[in-house]
Amino acid sequence: MNSGSSIATESAIATADVIQVEQLDYFFGKGDLRKQVLFGINLAIASGEIVILTGPSGSGKTTLLSLMGGLRSPQSGSLCMLGTELVGAAKTVAVEARRSCGYIFQAHNLHSSLTAQENVMMGLEVHGTHSRSERRDRALEMLSLVGLGERTQYYPEDLSGGQKQRVAIARALVSHPKIVLADEPTAALDKKSGRDVVEIMQRLAKEQGCTILMVTHDNRILDTADRIIYMEDGRLINSPEPVAIAPIVKSF
Ligand code: ADP
Ligand code: MG
Repeated sequence: MNSGSSIATESAIATADVIQVEQLDYFFGKGDLRKQVLFGINLAIASGEIVILTGPSGSGKTTLLSLMGGLRSPQSGSLCMLGTELVGAAKTVAVEARRSCGYIFQAHNLHSSLTAQENVMMGLEVHGTHSRSERRDRALEMLSLVGLGERTQYYPEDLSGGQKQRVAIARALVSHPKIVLADEPTAALDKKSGRDVVEIMQRLAKEQGCTILMVTHDNRILDTADRIIYMEDGRLINSPEPVAIAPIVKSF
């Protein structure tokens, strides 16, 4: 949690919130079909936090994640990712935001014509900063970390649901993103695989110092979060309490 901006020092800035949302509204459609799906969202997520976002279907969770990831353009309010404002931002800025986040979706979204290794290499391709051999080495390393060192040349159709989701995790994390957005990553998995997948994400995130925001309905994994937030009808319920103004602030 961000603890009082008025006492910001260099070290405080280094640990500042990586996701900051203020009074964010969002509307789908135009004219008569215009429909508001997000209402005055306020949320701050600190570096290294693992936050679970839960709530009924249709409450706006995926919409919020897609705005954070630069997949949709936010219309009003404020949405800062790694200190960059996305409301009113140029397209290039949104593209940059998209690249700085790792994504894990409910359906793993792997390319069926590519091997596990090639799928993970795709996670580095958008960055264009690594040679092919570097990409391959990093992909192989990441696949071992998620326990698939023996399956690197398999195609998605020859992997189980849990294994495919682990490939998706490897692809999302191979570029060491500062933020990982995961939308119901365990929805298609049985209990054991779902738990494994989340524990792998959690471990890698802690090792890489990244922040995770994960949408889930799966109450078997709620204990993996540092914090749980709840959305209903486009609103966050139990938003973070206002920051208490500590007496120390007065001396600055
Ligand atoms: P959740 O992920 O919590 O299930 P969503 O963010 O997918 O919720 O959806 C929130 C609301 O926005 C729902 O009422 C849904 O019908 C609507 N919605 C989602 N995507 C679109 C879209 N592309 N066009 C119009 N309405 C949409
Ligand atoms: Mg959803």
